[in-house]
Amino acid sequence: MTEHYLESHRDTRRLLVDRSVCAGHGMCYSRSPEVVDCDDAGYPMILRDALGFDEHIAAAEEAVAVCPERALTLASS
Ligand code: SF4
Repeated sequence: MTEHYLESHRDTRRLLVDRSVCAGHGMCYSRSPEVVDCDDAGYPMILRDALGFDEHIAAAEEAVAVCPERALTLASS
């Protein structure tokens, strides 16, 4: 399933989007535009290669929390 993931990462934090379950209704990028934008079809695009600030990590956590499809994961590596 790795090919379905787009990811942003810094050190140990990575925001992952599983497009195989994403419904494209946009709650994540509406809530956390600092870290997630949308493409022309309305699907999320991770903006930050590096979650370099606490506020970006917090925004990523909020995006994860609002996604009703559980398509987002903030992972440690
Ligand atoms: S909130 Fe979840 S399902 Fe909706 S666009 Fe964002 S990642 Fe996809």
